[in-house]
Amino acid sequence: MDDISIYIHLPFCKKKCYYCDFYSLPAGSLPETFIENYLLAVLLELLNYTDLLKSYRIKTIYIGGGTPNIIETSRLETFLELFFDILKKINPDFYDNIEEITIETNPEYISRNLIKMLKDEGINRISCGVQTISKRSAEILGRYISKNKIISSIEIITENFTNLSLDFMLGVPGHYIKDELKFIENLNYRFNSLKHISAYILMIPFGTPIYYKISEKQTENKSIKEYNYFNKFISQLGFKQYEISNYCKPGFESKHNLVYWNRQNYIGLGATASSYLYNVRYTNSCIAEYYQMFSDCINDRNLTLSNFKSLTEDLKNHTFNNRYLRNDSVANNFYKNLLVYIKKNNINHELLNKTQMMNEEIFLSLRKNEGLNLNSFFNEFEQDFLMDKKIEISRLQKMNDLIIERDNIKIPSEKFLIYNNIVGELLY
Ligand code: SF4
Repeated sequence: MDDISIYIHLPFCKKKCYYCDFYSLPAGSLPETFIENYLLAVLLELLNYTDLLKSYRIKTIYIGGGTPNIIETSRLETFLELFFDILKKINPDFYDNIEEITIETNPEYISRNLIKMLKDEGINRISCGVQTISKRSAEILGRYISKNKIISSIEIITENFTNLSLDFMLGVPGHYIKDELKFIENLNYRFNSLKHISAYILMIPFGTPIYYKISEKQTENKSIKEYNYFNKFISQLGFKQYEISNYCKPGFESKHNLVYWNRQNYIGLGATASSYLYNVRYTNSCIAEYYQMFSDCINDRNLTLSNFKSLTEDLKNHTFNNRYLRNDSVANNFYKNLLVYIKKNNINHELLNKTQMMNEEIFLSLRKNEGLNLNSFFNEFEQDFLMDKKIEISRLQKMNDLIIERDNIKIPSEKFLIYNNIVGELLY
């Protein structure tokens, strides 16, 4: 049985951070029923995949956003119960087989009640967005959370979870990287559950509020210095870098994110979520169109999270999920079903050709410290990458931008900052 992963997009936040160009909505200004209906739509979308999921082992689930834990705890609990209940009906061994279920959280909305609920629902990994402990930087980013609140939230998480990941941001004006690292060092000393750190360089997306305050030029030098300093210091704390922006204790890589970088199968549920199944990549529409796909069902049946269960009782009889997927098994007739689904719902999609797949393999693999495996590349595409790119590889090697170690070709971590330039030279 092949593996598949699931991403759930819950695009609700307190307010828009100044640097954010992700798809998210301010939870406080939405009508009462909006979030509930969105969660119902996600459950209905999952039901559409029932036939497909029967043929796979679910490897990882990632609940991201947005800020999933801004959703009222009891509502989130009901949603998760219903979601996992569907998966258990599809595959009774679901909980035994799954390797990782992560939820993204904001420390501002961590409570004992929430954390206990997440644990009870089977979540086994928490990712928590700290970004910075500097008040000044946090205000520039538009997301101030006090250091005390961050610490108390981590304390609460680690009472119940042994696999915690924290997000930080590099290159932010106003903070001192030494202070941020000192903070991580203290956390590392105090909390054995801290297994993973993500450190992203601040980007200044066009049109965001931060774009009108700060230029990329202003942060460029700071980012370079901080990235190099961070890489050096974090390894002394026992975190190994395994991807451009990700570091972990041995064995605690994000299994879900590795699915993306290894070009493995995943489905994305929710507005604007992307999926990748073999060589088809497709993206759900924005929230209005996404909701439209499911609104008839929600309205006709007066669905709420409280009465949703009745809909899944007869899941075994396939009374619902054939709405988009036809009677034949997805495993036997994969493309037909997937393409029927995509066409029917007018979903943006791209059927990748060989060149596109090779290029994806190159740029995704080279994000990782282990790099691109030349044998796997040849076995999959029947192309000799070393021969095909002989001139470029030799030039990059001379500049120490690329190294070859046994069967792997990789970018040294100190050159990750020019990853785009390096990869740009290696694509087909
Ligand atoms: S919490 Fe994340 S998704 Fe939400 S506004 Fe901030 S950066 Fe965007």
